[in-house]
Amino acid sequence: MADVYDIVIVGGGAAGFTAGLYAARDRCRTLVLERFSAGGQVLNCEHIENYPGFPEGVAGYSLGPLLQQQATNLGAEMRLVEVHNVRLDGDTKVLHTDDGELRSRVLIIATGSSFAKLDIPGEEEFLGNGVSHCASCDGAFFMDQPVAVIGGGDAALDEGMHLTQYASQVTIIHRRAELRACQLLQERARNKEKLAFRWDTVVRAIEGEGTVQHLQLEDAKTGERSQMEVAGVFLFIGLTPNIQFLNGQLPLNERGQIITDLSMRTSVPGILAAGDVRHESSRQLVSAAGDGATAALAAVRYLRTGEWAAKA
Ligand SMILES: Cc1cc2nc3c(=O)[nH]c(=O)nc-3n(C[C@H](O)[C@H](O)[C@H](O)COP(=O)(O)OP(=O)(O)OC[C@H]3O[C@@H](n4cnc5c(N)ncnc54)[C@H](O)[C@@H]3O)c2cc1C
Repeated sequence: MADVYDIVIVGGGAAGFTAGLYAARDRCRTLVLERFSAGGQVLNCEHIENYPGFPEGVAGYSLGPLLQQQATNLGAEMRLVEVHNVRLDGDTKVLHTDDGELRSRVLIIATGSSFAKLDIPGEEEFLGNGVSHCASCDGAFFMDQPVAVIGGGDAALDEGMHLTQYASQVTIIHRRAELRACQLLQERARNKEKLAFRWDTVVRAIEGEGTVQHLQLEDAKTGERSQMEVAGVFLFIGLTPNIQFLNGQLPLNERGQIITDLSMRTSVPGILAAGDVRHESSRQLVSAAGDGATAALAAVRYLRTGEWAAKA
């Protein structure tokens, strides 16, 4: 039988590694599991200017490995594996991974979220060939060509501004007439040359021959159809929580996020959730890290006292 960890953390983003460093520092036998690479969504952040301690900002690709390093320096183990299934009943939680079975007394779920899909024709077909979720990875492919960014939040504006370094024209297409993004980003975006907005517009299809050539658009108010010529389209329309491996074993809110109390405890003793995957998350790096710390402290308390009464 697999040996038993004190705390296994699923997800190696800001929430997961912060939980890992707190748990390991409290001398719990701690393992962080990550399916892709250390850092999670941090790696999609070009330049982070709202994470405390970095007055000049910090590049996401620098911060990701630092999060891992700090947790492992303090004694957390880390494995690059995906968790496919879990069994949450019983005192020992069982995880089925690429690497076989793992067991833990406590599980912290910090699996974050993935980019939501538009579910329109052309989206899957052109992914990686004109359709992208990452301006810093793919922006340079569109040198001096027009691109569109779909979305109205911080990520859409941030990535849209980044794309102005390469593209001849960046058009932010938003289905409403108001943005969700913070005011500072809105001011910056409105002052950017080469960046324009198309309001109240829904994208119905992404089309082209071999690669993206145009978008089929619909005016959300009048229903009028039009076509926009673009070489690339970047999608930032929201996020979907990564909870498939739980197979419905935990209560979720209507957005599919895991319900916790203020200590990050779920209704199942020994199971906590932290970061973007939990309900009412602010979906920011600093709050993900804060959730990770809170979850680890509650987990350690549970391991030492057996206490699980909700105090939300
Ligand atoms: C483009 C963009 C720009 C952003 N800019 C900023 C910004 O400037 N400032 C800011 O504060 N926030 C920003 N954010 C938000 C911020 O990145 C997130 O709030 C934060 O990274 C969430 O951290 P997390 O640890 O909860 O989840 P994530 O970072 O998503 O980490 C979850 C990890 O879990 C792993 N995982 C998922 N399922 C499994 C599984 N079954 N098995 C193993 N591993 C699994 C994933 O691979 C991932 O690495 C931005 C987000 C995006 C997309």
